[in-house]
Amino acid sequence: MLGEAFSDRVLAWFDRHGRRDLPWEQPATPYRVWVSEIMLQQTQVVTVVPYFERFMARFPNIAALAAASIDEILEYWTGLGYYARAHNLHWTARLVRDRYDGEFPQDIEAVRELPGIGRSTAGAILALACDQRHAILDGNVKRVLARHRAIEGWPGTTPVSNRLWRIAEELVPAQRVADYTQAMMDLGALICTHRDPHCLACPLQGDCKARQSGRQHELPAARPRKRSAVRNTMMVMIRTPSGDVLLQRRPPTGVWGGLLSFPEVRNEQECIAWCEGLLGVAPFNIIRWPVVRHTFTHFHLDITPLQVSVECRVSRVGDDAQYVWYNRNTPRGGLSAPVKQLIERLYAQEGATDGPHGTVRQTG
Ligand code: SF4
Repeated sequence: MLGEAFSDRVLAWFDRHGRRDLPWEQPATPYRVWVSEIMLQQTQVVTVVPYFERFMARFPNIAALAAASIDEILEYWTGLGYYARAHNLHWTARLVRDRYDGEFPQDIEAVRELPGIGRSTAGAILALACDQRHAILDGNVKRVLARHRAIEGWPGTTPVSNRLWRIAEELVPAQRVADYTQAMMDLGALICTHRDPHCLACPLQGDCKARQSGRQHELPAARPRKRSAVRNTMMVMIRTPSGDVLLQRRPPTGVWGGLLSFPEVRNEQECIAWCEGLLGVAPFNIIRWPVVRHTFTHFHLDITPLQVSVECRVSRVGDDAQYVWYNRNTPRGGLSAPVKQLIERLYAQEGATDGPHGTVRQTG
């Protein structure tokens, strides 16, 4: 077994244990594989599957995606996080429609020029959908290769990344590239896992340097730790007796780009002045809820929700490009995870006079 080529061992393992029932494999068209690869960036397969199926039912091809509004796409993306990915999907669909007559390009350089598609994603799309010979280097593959060859250093640095790319390219077989690519992803996700690698079930155990030296848990090296910064904001939650919630559209770029969110202020005084200025009414009750922490990759956002009561839906604010009266019975537009959660808790507060107790902490 040890004498067999690396790819032969990986493919033999895949034939017996690989995942063959993933929805984007049936059929594995460039469009479906592209959407799945974008969803799988930063997100696990088990989370992605239901999102992918809903997305495909509504946007079955590039034409449907290109014709949709970004609001609707964000609605289907709500909960997946990293919303820049949804914007990139939309831009790319329109580019493919306009530049390539609606046919996803099959040239690696053309694919890499599309928004949100890096070297590994481009390689994965063309390998999985077209069986073209390209390497990939996503998080799973990095982990397998760094352990198998005992590559030192954090893969986020250029020298380590270049080394891993060279190895990944050398190992891609001439035949069955799609299967090999899926096999490497599966091996990293199912066997060579981050915390608990199952080396005894691994087809690479015979010559894996990390296993030979007992260093599976040390490789690959972790990103050097930096203390995450903490930012603070207050979100104004206005809900009318009829159940409408006032939301504001965020700028198209930056955190939660293009999503609907609560208006933000710095303190209660500013909240009162903001209500009087925008709505023309003074709030008659402001309740400060416990802080909700949302953790992004590089910082924590501590949100202090302010529950604000107004008599009725204020006609001075209509539905327009910036403000929307949102109702859960007729939702529209995407919501970030904490805003969605706060809206649900706001509805649950119906009739209550006090805010909820306890701090909600969530990540992702
Ligand atoms: Fe990973 Fe263990 Fe396989 Fe090495 S032998 S590649 S550490 S699962």
